[in-house]
Amino acid sequence: MSKQYDFLIIGAGLYGSVFAYKAKQAGKKVLIIDKRSHFGGNLYCENIEGINVHKYGAHIFHTSEKEVWEFVNLFTEFNRYTNSPIANYKGKIYNLPFNMNTFYQLWGIKTPDEAKTIIENQRTEFGITSPKNLEEQAISLVGNDIYEILIKGYTEKQWGRKASELPAFIIKRLPVRFTFNNNYFDDKYQGIPIGGYNNLFESLLNGIELKCNTDFFEDRDFFESLADKIVYTGKIDEFYNYRLGKLEYRSLRFESEILDMSNYQGNAVINYTDVEIPYTRIIEHKHFEFGTQDKTVITREFPLEANSDSEPYYPVNDKANEKLAQQYRSLSAKEEHVHFGGRLAEYKYFDMDQIVYNVLKLNL
Ligand code: UDP
Repeated sequence: MSKQYDFLIIGAGLYGSVFAYKAKQAGKKVLIIDKRSHFGGNLYCENIEGINVHKYGAHIFHTSEKEVWEFVNLFTEFNRYTNSPIANYKGKIYNLPFNMNTFYQLWGIKTPDEAKTIIENQRTEFGITSPKNLEEQAISLVGNDIYEILIKGYTEKQWGRKASELPAFIIKRLPVRFTFNNNYFDDKYQGIPIGGYNNLFESLLNGIELKCNTDFFEDRDFFESLADKIVYTGKIDEFYNYRLGKLEYRSLRFESEILDMSNYQGNAVINYTDVEIPYTRIIEHKHFEFGTQDKTVITREFPLEANSDSEPYYPVNDKANEKLAQQYRSLSAKEEHVHFGGRLAEYKYFDMDQIVYNVLKLNL
């Protein structure tokens, strides 16, 4: 006998919501549940003083996939925000990502050749031929000065681990360029939904049955009986009741303040790259939408190890966790009625556009 729903989707974040939309379009009957009181996952925005506050950390949409960009633009209009974060190291300001402006601020040099020579000299000094960890990768990409000032402290705070114990690929996300270009992303398309991310989700989930404050694990048998297929976007280890062990996640604690001034730091994102300051960055949310409100809202991000009271944000990219994740993935690959998708269910760092892309490529 066929069940009440074709799909029960667990988690109304980006993966679950795009999946729900596609399934509905394919004529399927869908129920989406979320244990939080709202949809949108970590993209959820809360309106404070007329400002869309990114409650679970700043999210900037960027992609080079035309198909993905056109898809998200079906639901909401995006503005032309360009991410150009600033780094503050011991009170001095540097442009990010690493580019000619940064090299000028560091070394007073003005040409790409001068910058390349300095980096090349530092690289040879350290004699790294094939980088084995994040520290070696960073030094071989940008030299020791930039590593010490702009990478080491930030990275070790963010991950709670020595840079020499982290894998090289994390730092490959950061562009290095020999032009005066402060645009953080190399992607072709970039922006923030006008009016915040909730508009995107309202539109994606329009006409779809959604139950918030609903925890799958509180009545698993009941929920499993509802649908032919389950789409699971939660933590993969929790799905298996941690039977092979617990995967580690990095979390963030946010401290937000409403300030009685219109412009606190002059930029949406300022990273604090020295290790003495306990937070990694301060976000001033209004700048994502060029806000002109009288007040401003800022959020300090303090990284920490995830536990039962904190949200799991980043999979930890070390060997032990990757090995355990692989064991869980072999279990999940054998499931016939459960599809695992997204950052927590695949235990993998994805940018938002990769999530959308992965769902668009499914054959529903
Ligand atoms: N990173 C760094 N210095 C910075 C910003 C980033 O060393 O000022 C490194 C750090 O290792 C971090 C990685 O680059 O984990 C990716 O950072 P990004 O800000 O792109 O990641 P997000 O936290 O926004 O996903």
